Amino acid sequence: MNLHEYQSKELFELYNLPVSKRGLITKLSDIDEAIEKIDFSNGCVAKVQAHTGGRGKVGGVQLCKTKEEIEKFVNNWLGKKIVTNQTDDQGLPVNIISIDELASIEAELYMSLIVDRADKCVSMIVSRAGGMNIEEVAETNPEKILKVKFQNGHKIDKDQLLKVCSKLEFNSEQSKQFHEIVEGCKKLFLEKDLSLLEINPLVITSEGDLHCLDAKINVDENALYRQEDILSMRDSSQEDEREYQAKKHDLSYVSLDGNIGCMVNGAGLAMGTMDTIKLYNGEPANFLDVGGTATKERVGEALKLILSDQNVKGILVNIFGGIVRCDLIAQGIIGAINEIEVNVPIVVRLQGNMSNEGKELLNSSGLNVIGEDSLMEASQKIVELVK
Ligand code: GDP
Ligand code: MN
Repeated sequence: MNLHEYQSKELFELYNLPVSKRGLITKLSDIDEAIEKIDFSNGCVAKVQAHTGGRGKVGGVQLCKTKEEIEKFVNNWLGKKIVTNQTDDQGLPVNIISIDELASIEAELYMSLIVDRADKCVSMIVSRAGGMNIEEVAETNPEKILKVKFQNGHKIDKDQLLKVCSKLEFNSEQSKQFHEIVEGCKKLFLEKDLSLLEINPLVITSEGDLHCLDAKINVDENALYRQEDILSMRDSSQEDEREYQAKKHDLSYVSLDGNIGCMVNGAGLAMGTMDTIKLYNGEPANFLDVGGTATKERVGEALKLILSDQNVKGILVNIFGGIVRCDLIAQGIIGAINEIEVNVPIVVRLQGNMSNEGKELLNSSGLNVIGEDSLMEASQKIVELVK
């Protein structure tokens, strides 16, 4: 789950990480109150709050010297959508704008903590060459990016940290500040079950101090059950509507760009099904695992979810009945089709537990559902039908 920058900065404050003061705006009349929360004597930086980076490049981060400039920014953005190189072409809705006290910048650095799957630990990534073009640096000058592994999951070797400080060209005061920032980030990362914490840019101000200008946090979804305070920060307006609905029904769903909706039980089988569709030159519209304990109701919800995607031109259902009974799956499909209008072909492959009963139910339902016995034939069929 992603957080907004302002929410991440609220967490940063709890861990004594240096961030700018800020005021929040959700409507035009909030501006005065927001300005009062900061020292506005040098102006401020107005920042669109949306679950994306790359805002600076599309005018979503802007220096404002006067109240009128803030008003203009708010009028430009509030209630609109922001499209960046990190969003899809629909973009994300802008419902909140933050105005941050202006910081002066000598240098922009990059810092992040990640769950490092390759090395099975938490790693820190830092670079002197931070800011809006960090992706470019990673491609053209990867030697400018340093990675430090946390030992035993949480310890950074003192000598290693000193070396990093010297590579980042910190003086002794900055090195001290950096130590504290690393400690604070690490504590926050571990205590709140983060999978990503990114500060880009981490700046050196004209006073020579380190300061976090941006803050991005991603929290491990699997840990949300024990992070109630964080769960309350969820902003579903920033999430894919179908993925959000899927989570509510405990379905693992990921939107994709193709036109063949997939409903499968088991993540491995779902991947295999997508591969087979691709093999016959089709394009899956989604990944969907209805789980090992798929019930009639969940199958119905899953089918509705798939059909709510306008791009879907056909559906492939691939169920292997182990624990799950294929006749119940068939009932779920029939129930959902009777409830909602279905204008696209559905190919169903049922195998395993009670599959004959399931096929019988589908055949006698009078619905336009095509049964196939093998995954190859079923995939080929649905690809043909959507063409
Ligand atoms: P992003 O583009 O979505 O990652 O948004 P950022 O928060 O990183 O802001 C983009 C850029 O705006 C930064 O790289 C800075 O150059 C600039 N910026 C942001 N806040 C300030 C500030 O307080 N003072 C100054 N001078 N520039 C800022
Ligand atoms: Mn940034």
